[in-house]
Parts: sequence; structure tokens; C-alpha cells
Amino acid sequence: MTNGDSNSSLTRRNLVKGAALGAVATGLGMAATKEAAAQQAYDAIVIGTGFGGTIATLALHAQNKKILVIERGTFWITPEALGSPPKPALDPSGKPVPPLAKWASDHNYLTQYWSRPDHGAGLVDLLSNRYHEGNRKGLHNYRMFRQAHILTASGVGGGSLIYSNVNLRAQPDVLDRIGLKSLDYGRAERFMEKYRGKMHAVVTKIPLPANLTPDKLGDKDYLLLDRSRALRDAAAVASAQLGISMTWSPLKLSVVEYDDAANTEADAQHTFCERQGRCILGCLPQARHTLNKTLYKFVFSKDAQTTLSPQSEVRTIKKVGDTYEVTYLDHRNDPFPQATTVRAPQIFLAAGVLGTTEILLRSRNQTGLRLSDKLGSGFSTNGDFGALAVGTKRPDGSKMTVSPTRGPINTADVSFDTGGKHYTVEDCGIPAMFARIARMGIDHPTLLRGLEFDLGFLNTTPQSPLKKDPNQTEAEMIDDVFFFNAMGEDDASGRFTLDGDKLDLDWDHPIADHPVFAKHEEILRSLSQAMGGTYRALPTWDGLPFIFDKKTLIVTHPLGGCRIGQTMNEGVVNEFGQVYDESKKATDPNAVHSGLYIVDGSVIPGALAANPTLTISAQALKAVEKAVGPLPNI
Ligand SMILES: Cc1cc2nc3c(=O)[nH]c(=O)nc-3n(C[C@H](O)[C@H](O)[C@H](O)COP(=O)(O)OP(=O)(O)OC[C@H]3O[C@@H](n4cnc5c(N)ncnc54)[C@H](O)[C@@H]3O)c2cc1C
Ligand code: SF4
Repeated sequence: MTNGDSNSSLTRRNLVKGAALGAVATGLGMAATKEAAAQQAYDAIVIGTGFGGTIATLALHAQNKKILVIERGTFWITPEALGSPPKPALDPSGKPVPPLAKWASDHNYLTQYWSRPDHGAGLVDLLSNRYHEGNRKGLHNYRMFRQAHILTASGVGGGSLIYSNVNLRAQPDVLDRIGLKSLDYGRAERFMEKYRGKMHAVVTKIPLPANLTPDKLGDKDYLLLDRSRALRDAAAVASAQLGISMTWSPLKLSVVEYDDAANTEADAQHTFCERQGRCILGCLPQARHTLNKTLYKFVFSKDAQTTLSPQSEVRTIKKVGDTYEVTYLDHRNDPFPQATTVRAPQIFLAAGVLGTTEILLRSRNQTGLRLSDKLGSGFSTNGDFGALAVGTKRPDGSKMTVSPTRGPINTADVSFDTGGKHYTVEDCGIPAMFARIARMGIDHPTLLRGLEFDLGFLNTTPQSPLKKDPNQTEAEMIDDVFFFNAMGEDDASGRFTLDGDKLDLDWDHPIADHPVFAKHEEILRSLSQAMGGTYRALPTWDGLPFIFDKKTLIVTHPLGGCRIGQTMNEGVVNEFGQVYDESKKATDPNAVHSGLYIVDGSVIPGALAANPTLTISAQALKAVEKAVGPLPNI
């Protein structure tokens, strides 16, 4: 089935389902409204538990508000126990705070585990953990739109569960170009460290002693992770060839790093980054600072005022006088989801680009919420682009090992300006469970389907003709393959609409023709050449008969849909995330719905050319602290 076919069948199916769900929502709406009367009212409702949702929950908790946190997904944690568990923290009465998994099971919250085996079987586990309508407990949500596929997470902790831990500021010029003003990145970084944990550069195979930094390794340069070094050296060559000044820097990662000083984070948690190369699939040694841990430590484990409703998907928001009714489907009793309506005077929408835009488009259609006609427009791919350098070699022609299966997913970036635009290129790990399928895709692209595909990646045929050396490890299969993760500036011209009941995304002009992607190809070809490798586009870009149309983008940093604008003629929210009230458009284009805020990536008005969570967090802090009051201790 082609993409087009899949979309048209989805369209028909969604129309039917949309009508059915509409009927359900309308029918249950009455029951739900009655239920609401019986419900306790909350001071505030937070929808989603990603970066914006966590910041809103922490700030509301600090003000002692009665909060309901509604999250579509479940808890996700490591299946592994630490060899030597640390001493538990103590609550104010001196009692040990139970581990998250114990607390969750005591509260009847479902806890699931990262996919574990680091080979083909792990991939099967991973695929079965995909979030979709038939598996609402899933984690990775891969949405296939016509021109772009978008990957996001579903779970308590949102994108932090599957992201690669990078904290990067956007360049001031880029922020100016998209009109994003007065963000306090220092405060966002302090939030990351205070409420999550210290940020660390991890570009070396072992943690460096205090007297060494990655730029001063000298003859200890061999300690660098192979792909961090490969990117640094290739950038130096490409920089001279292209006449572009490129700066290589280690990234600041939200992970625990071993430090030989006393009383460190590693000492407290008895863990640190073991360079297992699978951050986006979940960290087995528990070294990543995910937001489920933040929410548990600072709010859920201690606050009777905060209620969490996981596995609950918000459908609509309705304005009723000075308050809002939020209707959600609680899927904990599936296949019999329970429609519930709750109300509060303050709502913090933090369901991410796809979630928030969908909820608001649906609310406008079904509850008459009056919203700017810019709703849905201004989607940006963040110029996301991936490609490979295959067969990396040293100048003497011998193999250059870049070891993509080791180290954090992203370790370093190369940052530069050309043609008046900013670009960021990072190295990107390839988790071992993808090694076989990646190798096969590189060597035999057309076999990436059908029986050979299945037999190959399930590892059920160790003597498969596709396997050159039956004793080869996953790491060896792809040790000369470098994966680039590039970001740039597109024109934020994507538009979300509702197709029946579900979100759809499209562009008036093919987004893949935007010059940012041609520039990425030019730069990545040059970097590949500098690594002695052959440039290879991803199968989604090259096209794969019957699977991917040519030039399909894969977006991991979606932005916009409810963008900030100076007035409701330009955006959906103002600079503080307050949602414009379209019913007052004629008299006051700055009028807002009192108490209704958006605090996630959907408000970002254009590409950042950088990993976005630090910017999303800085913007969320600005909005939430104005609405609720300051977050303590930052
Ligand atoms: C593989 C990968 C790696 C990445 N690495 C990085 C990185 O290293 N650095 C970086 O800066 N960015 C990274 N990103 C991007 C980053 O994850 C996102 O930009 C970020 O998570 C967005 O934050 P948010 O608060 O807007 O929304 P999210 O973090 O997406 O949170 C939204 C939450 O809302 C919930 N939700 C959605 N709809 C509903 C609904 N209807 N009802 C209830 N709940 C709902 C979701 O389950 C989710 O928990 C990465 C993304 C991916 C996919
Ligand atoms: S590289 Fe491995 S150990 Fe380190 S943070 Fe990532 S998943 Fe955890």
C-alpha cells in the first residue's frame, strides 16, 4: 500500500470513526456534564506530562494548588535492577520514599518496561510497544503524514522518555527571525539541573578526570568516542573545503556521568552513563534524567493535592462561564473507555505539537471554543534531516571505525551559518537492535520488505545469505556507518487540519523542496567525503517501493501549530502562552481566554535549527511563572 493509499483509506475510516466518536462524545457529553457536577473542581488542570506539562505541574504544586494532571500514556521504567541499590530518600517524617515502580503499583498505575534485548528480538519488542489506536499503552508514536513522518512519545514524562537528552540553546539570530523574544535560557538550564539533574558532556569512552577536558586531550585523544572524533575531524576538513566556519562542541546532556569527586550524583544514585547507545529506547542503567522521575520526586510522591490520571486522552475543552470543562476518555478499563468531564478555572495545555493542536481543532468544532483562525498553521519541521556516511575510511584507505552503537545517541554538534541561515549537525547513535536492519537496508535496499526482511531482522536464520559473517556482532555490522542528525531553518509553512476526528498535516508546496534540505545534502555529502565514506540518504528520502514515497521527511522535533503571534491575526497565543479569544476579535485583537494557556512546543513560531527542549522549557517557564508564580530554587 502506498502512502497515498494509506491516507485515503485512513480518511474513509476516520470519517466513519470520527462520526462515531462525535456521537459518543455528544452522547457521553451529557452524562459527562452531569458527572462533572459531582466531580470535585480543581484549581488547575494540566494536560500532558512532557517538558511544558512538568513545568506547569511543578509551579502549581509550589503554590499549593489542587491539580489534576491528565496524561495519555503510562509509566515507563527500566526492567533492570541496579547491582547495588542506593539508600532510598526519606520523606519529611523520616520514612523511606518507595521506588517509583512500587509507588505506581500501590496506586494501580500501569508500569511498563523499556524494550530490552539489544538485537533483533528487541526490535520486535520495540514494535509491539508502538503507540497507536489499537495499542494506547504504547510508547513510541510514529505518525505518517503525506510529506512527513513525526515521532513523539506517549507516557508519563512525555518526550523525555525517548529523547536523546540534548540541551541546546537556539542562536539569537534564529530566535529573532521567528520573533521569539525574551527567553531566559539561564533559567531553563537551572530548571534542568535543579529539577532533573546535572548536565554533562559525554564525548569520551570513560568519564574524564577533573584535570582533562575534551578539547585538551592531546595524546589522550583516543579516549574520545569514535563518532565524536569523526565529526570533529570531518568538520575541520569540510569547513576548509566549503569555506564555512564550523564549530565543533560537546553537547550538554541530561544524564548522570561518573565523577570521582565525593558526594556526586553518581554516588547518590549508584549509576551513571555506561555508553550503551540506546537512550531513545530507554536507558537500562537508569542514567537519564527523565521527567517521570522529576514528577515523582517533587510532586507525586509527596502531594495529596495533585491527582494523576494516566492512560487518559483529552478529547475537548469547553468554556463554561469563567471555567473550562475538559472531557477525556479514561482508557484504564479498555475496551470500555470511560468518558469523564472535569472543570477548572485554569488549564495548561501541554499535549505537545500534535496533541494540543488536535485537542483545540476538535474543541473549536465540537464545543464552539472561539480560537484564532491561525490555529493549525505554522507547523515547522525544524529543518530536521538525517543521512548516513557509509564505509568510513582513514586517509590511508583503511577502515575508520565510528562505532554508532556506543555512547549516548547524540554526543557533539557542529554549528555554522551559511547563506544567512543557521545549521546544526550532530552525530547520532544507532542502537544495536537496529544494526541488522540498518546493514541490510544499506547493502540490499530493495530487500527491506517481504520475507527476507522478516527473517533477517528477527534473527531466526543465523545462516541467512544476507549475513556475511555469522559470528559478527551487532556493533561490528555497522561500525563503519556514521549517522548524521541535522537541523536547519524551514519556513514553518505546514498546516494541520482535522480529517474526520484525526489530525492531518500537509503543505501547499512540497516541503522537501525547501532549500534547507538541499543545503543539508550538500553539507552532509562533504562531511561524508571527509570521513572517507559514501553519502547515503535515508530510505524515507530515497524512496522505497511500496513503503515510502520519495523525499518523505522524518521529524523528531516538531514545532508550531498554535504559534505565538503579536495579535490573534498572527497567532493562536500571545508571548505568555495565553490563548487568544476570537469572539472579541473585532474589538480587541489581543483579547485572551482568561486562564487558558499553552505551554508546549506547539507555540514555538518557527524552526529553531537546534534541538528544541531547552527553548520549549524556557518558553514554558515564561508562561507558567507569569500565570502561577515562580518555580522555587531556580
Ligand atoms: C527520538 C527523539 C529524540 C529527541 N531528542 C531530543 C533531544 O535530545 N533534545 C531535544 O531538545 N529534543 C529532542 N527531541 C524532541 C523532544 O522530545 C520534543 O521537542 C519535546 O518532548 C516536546 O516537548 P512538549 O512539552 O512540547 O511535548 P511532549 O514532550 O511531546 O509531551 C506531550 C505529552 O502530552 C501527552 N498527550 C498528547 N496528547 C494527549 C491527549 N490528548 N491527552 C492527554 N495527554 C496527551 C503525551 O503522551 C506526552 O506525554 C527528540 C525527539 C525524539 C522523537
Ligand atoms: S548511552 Fe546508554 S547508559 Fe548512557 S544515557 Fe544513553 S542509554 Fe543510558
